[in-house]
Parts: sequence; structure tokens; C-alpha cells
Amino acid sequence: MLTIKLKLRTPNNGKSQILNEYLKDFTACASWWLRKIQKDKTTSRTKLHHRYYHEARGTFNSLPSANIQCALDKAIETQRAYWKKKGNKSLPQFKSLFGCFRNDTFKIENNAVRLTVGSRKTIWLPLIIPDRFKESLNLKFGRSEVKRVRGQWYLYLTVKPEIKSDVKSENVLGVDIGVAKLAVISTPDKKINKFFSGEETRYIKNHYHNLRKKLQAKLGEGKNVYKALKRISGKEKRWTKDANHKLSRQIVNIAKDNKAVIAIENLKGIRERIKATKRVRRMLHNWNFRQLISFIEYKARLDGLCCVSIDPRGTSRKCSACGYTEKSNRKSQSRFKCSNCGLELNADLNAARNIADRALESLPSGYMLEGAGGLALPEVGLAHNLASSA
Ligand SMILES: [Zn+2]
Repeated sequence: MLTIKLKLRTPNNGKSQILNEYLKDFTACASWWLRKIQKDKTTSRTKLHHRYYHEARGTFNSLPSANIQCALDKAIETQRAYWKKKGNKSLPQFKSLFGCFRNDTFKIENNAVRLTVGSRKTIWLPLIIPDRFKESLNLKFGRSEVKRVRGQWYLYLTVKPEIKSDVKSENVLGVDIGVAKLAVISTPDKKINKFFSGEETRYIKNHYHNLRKKLQAKLGEGKNVYKALKRISGKEKRWTKDANHKLSRQIVNIAKDNKAVIAIENLKGIRERIKATKRVRRMLHNWNFRQLISFIEYKARLDGLCCVSIDPRGTSRKCSACGYTEKSNRKSQSRFKCSNCGLELNADLNAARNIADRALESLPSGYMLEGAGGLALPEVGLAHNLASSA
């Protein structure tokens, strides 16, 4: 399941009022369920339904039955997530207004969503649908949510990406993520060799770094400096997110065109590998690799492609031609020269090929021929907030 975040156009007053009332009722209902769950210390749907459903219908009589059950499901998930997370946090509660819709209580058509907000009561709300999501609207939907974030309404649409079993994967695209180059991609057959330069990123990052430094020197001078610092940090974040969106889209498109499985290093490996100078470390802290990886994975899944996560240890020391592994193979940050066979190439490109090779080894045998559609493959093991990555 993936979540796509779509902006709702500001509804007119009449619709706003209907929506607000529904959300108030829904949030109250979900909170009510949550309290029952916490009192009874159970998240068994059957038990809760049996004990309280009748009472719920009476208490929240403006809500259709489907939405009352939706509220129960949401409350169960919220409590389970809380139990799973260890630590002495206060009990979960629903603080802001929201509403869930089961996939049979909403419909998207002609850039608008129709929501069922009461028995035989529906409203149409116009949506802003970016081109990149247009195709995804043909997928199956799951339970979705409407929420207001900073004065703006959003539909968090859940979609089930289908794994296209008829598409045979014919290649593996290894992705080496780094600092000198943001990303380098290659295939075991060496037909694709592409560098995504990090130059612009470095320039922008340095620019923000310098701005911050100047401001920090003035910190004693009052409130406005704090505000300016906050504003800069927001700007930098948005710039990074946008850059990650573009980069991940390019990489996924190349994989799609080449019917390739995408092999990415896991984050832990990246952090361990890049032991570097102070300047590079600073970049590393400010650059959101986790976001980049999650965007690649997200877009790949939306397009029905498969992603595998690879432990990249040793990929920078190993020769992608003969397999000889030796620290001295890597002559510098950018240069690789094999002491055994003499192969000489860019170090990140060598790593990208090793990543692709390693993925190839770990894929179930016959995968490349059969095109198992990625069902049996390990998924990229990253917990990330997909809702915010859209
Ligand atoms: Zn070699």
C-alpha cells in the first residue's frame, strides 16, 4: 500500500460546513473507539465490534455504518502502533480533525472526489492531481483519509500498486549513492553508466550553510534572527525534497525503460562507507539520503517495478571485472584501479556495478527469465512515511 497526498481545492462555504461536521463526528467516533480499546486493553476487532458496535451506532447516528467501522479500524491501528513502539509515551489520541473513507465510500472522477458523509449524503470536492499521479488513479484504492494541514485540505489516497507479472525483468540497475556524485547507476552488462552530479547540490548546501553561519553570529540580536534561521531551514528542506523527487524520478524512469530491477544500498551501509572529511560529513548530515532512497522505492513501486536493498560493504574495494578485493584498489575518492587485472574506472561507477552484481546473486534463480514480478523478493527495509514523501 502506498499513500498519495492530493490537495483539495478550497470547498465553498456550504461544502466546507458539511465536511467539517463530518470530520468532527468522525474524529469523535474514532476517539470514542480508542477509549474503549484502552479501557478493555484489546484490539481484537471481533470483540470490540461485538461489545460496542450497537452503542456506537446509537451515539454516532449521523455516521454511516461503513464509516463507524472505518473509525474502529483506524483506532485499532493507532493503538497497535502505540503498543509496538516501546517507551513511556502518553496514550495515543486523535488531536486534529480527520476523516477516513473506506474504498466503497469514495470515488474519484474528473479531478474530483465524491465522499459519502452520511447515509445517502455525498459531497463532491475538486482535487488538484499532479500529472505524475494521473496513472496511479487507475489502481485499486484502499481506505483513505481527509485531513487539514496548516489550513489546507488534503486527501491521503491509499493505492495498491500492482506488480506487473507480465513484465519480465531483464536487467538490474545498481544505484550507488554518494557525496562526490549524488548517484551513479550502472548495469552488470555495463550498457548503462550514468552519473548524477552533486555539484549543484553542494553549491546550494554551501550557500545555506554560509547563510546560517552569518545568522548564528547574530543570535543575540533578537527574535528576528530565529525567525530567519527557521525560514532558511524550511527553504533548504523544500529544495532538498524537490531535488530528491527529480533525481528519483530520473532513476526510476531509466529502470522502467530497461525493464530493470533496482538495487540500492541500504542506508546503514552508506553511512559506514562514507567516512570523510568534515566538509563531506556536513553534507551527509544535511543531505537526506533516507528520503532519496524512499522516493526511489516509492516511485518504483508505483510503476510496478521491484526494488532490492543491498548491503554495500566491500562494494567500493572490489573490482567489478575480476572480483579481486583489496583496499588499495581504491586510489582516491574518485579513482579505482584494480591491482590484479588493471581495470581502471571511476570508483562510484565500479561500486554501482558491484551493487548490481550483488543483487543479481541474491535474486531467486530464474528470476531474470521468469520475471517473477518481484513477489518473492526482499523489500527495501526502510520504514518511511510515504504520505509525506508524495
Ligand atoms: Zn580486477
